[in-house]
Amino acid sequence: MDESYEYLKEAIKSYQCPSCGQRGRWTNTCELAVDGTGIYAECTGRINGQECYYILTASSLEDLMQTDANFRAFTNNLNQQKAPWEASYYNHPCPYCGQYKVRDAKWGDKAISTAFWGFLSHKLHSRYKCDACGNMWD
Ligand SMILES: [Zn+2]
Ligand SMILES: [Zn+2]
Repeated sequence: MDESYEYLKEAIKSYQCPSCGQRGRWTNTCELAVDGTGIYAECTGRINGQECYYILTASSLEDLMQTDANFRAFTNNLNQQKAPWEASYYNHPCPYCGQYKVRDAKWGDKAISTAFWGFLSHKLHSRYKCDACGNMWD
């Protein structure tokens, strides 16, 4: 699983703040380490009428999964939805990366997109998906 900063940044949107218990209240999100790994974020949730200000730091997705059982279940569920890689590929290359790894976007792909990238994602309407770079398009 890709644990790059961009991936973590999307993943923490469903991570529950250990202090105030709210989800998706993360702000000032940035990279934790200079090499672009890990994540830093501050919680803007409210606890007893005060700002929570919990500071989240995690070096990997596993770190987050260890501290939030619901998030772990959510992430494992996403993993299980991934299609088996027996897909047959089209014989035209991906317009993004140029590799011949283009296949039909499956329902599971779209479900992951919805969960991670928001309800209004154009990816909901995407027809093709590239297994090499992960882009989806019509
Ligand atoms: Zn909080
Ligand atoms: Zn591609």
